[in-house]
Order: sequence, then structure tokens, then C-alpha cells
Amino acid sequence: MITLESFVRGAWQRGNGKPRPLQDPTQETDIALCDSTGLDFAGAVAWARATGGANLRRVGFAERGRWLKALSAAIHAQRDALIAVSAQNGGSTRGDAKFDLDGATGTLAAYAKLAESLGDENFLPDGDGVQLGRTARFWGQHVRVPRPGVAVHVNAFNFPAWGMCEKLACSVLAGVPAISKPGTPTALVAYRVAQVVTQSNALPEGAFQFVCGSLGDTLDWLGPQDTLAFTGSAKTGAMLKGHARLVGANTRVTLEADSLNCAILAPDVGDDADTWSAFVNHLVTDLTQKTGQKCTAVRRILVPRDRVEAVVETLVDRLSRIAIGDPADEATKMGPLASGAQFEDVTKGMKALATVARTACGGPVKLKDRGFFVAPTLFVANDVEADVLHSLEVFGPCASVLCYDGSAAEAVRLANRGGGGLVASVYANDKRWTDDVVLGIAPWHGRIWVCSDKVADQAYAPGMVLPQSIHGGPGRAGGGEELGGLRGLDLYLQRVALQGDQGHIGRRFGRSNPDAAV
Ligand code: NAP
Repeated sequence: MITLESFVRGAWQRGNGKPRPLQDPTQETDIALCDSTGLDFAGAVAWARATGGANLRRVGFAERGRWLKALSAAIHAQRDALIAVSAQNGGSTRGDAKFDLDGATGTLAAYAKLAESLGDENFLPDGDGVQLGRTARFWGQHVRVPRPGVAVHVNAFNFPAWGMCEKLACSVLAGVPAISKPGTPTALVAYRVAQVVTQSNALPEGAFQFVCGSLGDTLDWLGPQDTLAFTGSAKTGAMLKGHARLVGANTRVTLEADSLNCAILAPDVGDDADTWSAFVNHLVTDLTQKTGQKCTAVRRILVPRDRVEAVVETLVDRLSRIAIGDPADEATKMGPLASGAQFEDVTKGMKALATVARTACGGPVKLKDRGFFVAPTLFVANDVEADVLHSLEVFGPCASVLCYDGSAAEAVRLANRGGGGLVASVYANDKRWTDDVVLGIAPWHGRIWVCSDKVADQAYAPGMVLPQSIHGGPGRAGGGEELGGLRGLDLYLQRVALQGDQGHIGRRFGRSNPDAAV
């Protein structure tokens, strides 16, 4: 059985503790061992800052973008091999594995493209310059510069490739080296991707380190120029955010946590509308893709009272036709949950939801003798006010239908009871109703997908995270913000206000022609 190693200070190294087994969730067999005990974490932090940081900032943004492009190509070249690993370790169907891997290479490529226009300097102008004095001679200009620290990236198990690469794309482009830690249950996939990263030599020495297992005392060595970017459950995130060293040093911490995402059907959408078809298709995709293990999957479906029966009937019909089985089998549309712990969590969560809702299909049972299989499960809330519907994320193929009176105000109230979400989707053609809902839920969400007949046929389901749009959300969703084009670099850059002579500050650091501004 393979023992996964960590890539620290330029070498692959093995821990010296008791290794944790990783499983094939289809067969329930051990396939790898993982341990990072005893590694030199203080040395890793120091090496990243000194060697990785210096090597990354030896060049400017455009050149670092070319490195990302090479990295994207190197990972893409191993796509088929990585898909097989993803099936074995993550229980991912071919489609689910591609979703993770193409998301990884696509995000790296998107940031490579973005870098083409950023030039060869190591600062980025931030907005236009502004006159500060009685005349334009005294001038102000904000700029953003790379922070000379290390970025520690902690990822969840559900996107071992995409999660690692989307964080890496932003920190590398910003000029900040990374120490990346995958979620252990699917670390074999992340390990194979990390091997490609190191073998490709696409990134300079020290820009990338990889800790497979526990982070040890890494966080104890972080300081004011460093960043912790975490993705995972709200519980772990809150614990890490309160870490004494991070609080004391004002280390930047960003959390991408869990979310009770909602889809809202407006009363004006009839069964014959394209928006209705998109609503149903998106729900089926989000419920079953990656076996529902997506932080952006819909968990609450808000439906006008008189449409509940139609929605439930349609979804039950579609969900009951999903072929569940071995992800290596081409006919399979949904594989198992990623681990035994996941199975325990999901079935426990389903039981909790069943106390306040009717089970329309699926339920908290193991579908096969072997493997962590559950069926797509749809609940219909008996009492839409029950707290558990708005607070418990069941991280599997599971969502609840909640009826409402069709008013924008009621849709907003119920949507916002999630306490802050990564994404909400609104299915409506009535623009006025839509605007009321959008503005009502906007402060509580990181992304709002507005689906109407105009775009119903040409867009991804709301669970899809794109590098052009920010990913994150307020409150319960962690309060973080990643991606969103250039915005994704902000986490790793320091914004500084420069004040001085326009002839110098404006010309050297501004983006507008200072002569024209005088
Ligand atoms: P998790 O149990 O919170 O773990 C997340 C990461 O934190 C893992 O790498 C885990 O490592 C690590 N970790 C746990 N304890 C730690 C500690 N004391 N110090 C340092 N690192 C520690 O979450 P998960 O089960 O992997 O992922 C599922 C959750 O993530 C869901 O709630 C989902 O909604 C959320 N998620 C959110 C997003 C988003 O972008 N907002 C994306 C994906 C998933 P080990 O695996 O080694 O324990």
C-alpha cells in the first residue's frame, strides 16, 4: 500500500508517526497511508518565505502568469490518470472527477490569461490617482504589493484538485509561496496532483510545499505578513480563526465554510417556461453531482405553496432514475460518499431533517452491502420555521423543499435565515419581483444566480464556481472571498496609499496618464 509523503523544503518526506488509512469508498478497502508527524514545519515556513518568496518576486505578474499556464498544461496532460485516482479515492464518477480536475486546470489557465495584462512590475495600481493638495502637484495613489510571507492553504476533502489549484493560482500570481494541505480522506488525489506540480518544474523552488496529513505546529510559526486560507466546515474554521498565534500576530485568515444554499422559484414561472426546465435540471445536478458533496450545492428549495406538489413529483421522478454504483462503471451517474465518516455524518443529518420533514425519496440508509452509498434524498418541510432546516448542512445528496407564499418578502426572509450563504439562485421572469429578492438577499450572499428565460439554456448550475466571480459568503459561509478575477489576489497583497509629488508618484505608480490629469 502506498504511503503518501509531504513535499517540504524541496524534498518528498515521510512522517514518523502512526499513519492514517485512506479508503476506496466503493470497496471500503484501505488504499493508502497518510502521516506527516515529525516534519520540520518551522523550516517549511521559513523556507517558503526566504526561498519561495524571493524566487516568485524575482519576476513580475506577467511572468508568474506564464508559470501558471505551464502548470495548468502539466496537470491537464495527466488528466486520464488523475481521473482514475479520483474514482478510486474519492468515489468520483468520470464526470465528477473531470469537474474537479478541469476546474483546477481551468482556474490556473484563467489566472494565467488574466496575468497577460498585468505587466512585469511587482505592484498593481489600485484605482485612479487623486488630488490631495490645493493643486494637483500633491497627489495620492493606492497600490497593491505582494506580502513577503507564506500562504498556508487548508483544503476540504471534496475538491482535492480544484481546491488546491484555485488557491495556488491566486497566491502564486500575487507572488506569495504556498504550503498546501489537502483534506485527508481524498489526499491521494491531491498527492498525485502535487507530484505533477513538483515534477513539472513549472513553479520556482520554494513556491509550493505540500503537507499530507496534519499541519503539525505550522500555524505557531505564522506572522503578520502570512495568510491562512481555509476551506472546510464552519466548526473547524472557527477553531482555526481563534488560534492564539494568528490572533496575536494579526495574520490574515480567510474562511470558506459551509452554507445552506437556497434555490428560489418565483410564482410567475410556469411548467412550460425555459426557466422551469433550468430550475429542475439545476436541482438534479446540484443534488447528485459529486454525490451532493459540494459546498455550493442547493440545500433549501423555496417553492410557492401551490407549486410544491409539482416540484416534488418532478424531482422525485428525476432523482429516482439516477444510476447509483461503482464510479468506474460508465453507466453510473452517482458514486458513493467519499468516506465512512461522511456516511456517518450524512445519515445522521438526514435523520435530523426527517424529524421536521416528510421524506419524498431516498433517506438515511446504506444502499449496498459494501461502499458508502446513499440515495438522492428529497425532504418536504412540515414546518418551514424549524431551525434545523436553516442551520444543519447535510453534506451529501440531500435537499429540502420549503413552501412559501410566493411573495418576494417571504422568499427573502426564508433565504436569509441560512445566516449567510455562498450562493443563492433565483428562478423568475418577473423583473420587479426578481429585483426585490436580489436586493433583499444580497447582503447575506456571496453570489446570486439570476435565472430567467433569457439565460436558462446557456448557463451552468449555481453550484459551479467560476474564476471570474467571487466565491465565498458572509456569516455562516465563513465571511471569506476568493477568486473573482483580480479580487482573488487581494488576500495576498498589501494595499498601501502613496502620497507625494504627482510627477513621481502618479507617473510611476498610477494607471492613468498623469499629464492628462494635471
Ligand atoms: P473539515 O473537517 O472542516 O476539514 C477541512 C480541512 O481542515 C481539512 O484539510 C482538515 O484536515 C483540516 N483540519 C481539521 N482540523 C484541523 C486543525 N486542527 N488544524 C489544521 N487543519 C485542520 O471539512 P471537510 O470535511 O474536509 O469538508 C467538508 C466541509 O467543507 C463541508 O462543511 C463543506 O461545506 C465545506 N466546504 C466549503 C467550501 C467553500 O468553499 N466554502 C468548499 C468545500 C467544502 P484533515 O482532513 O486532515 O482532518
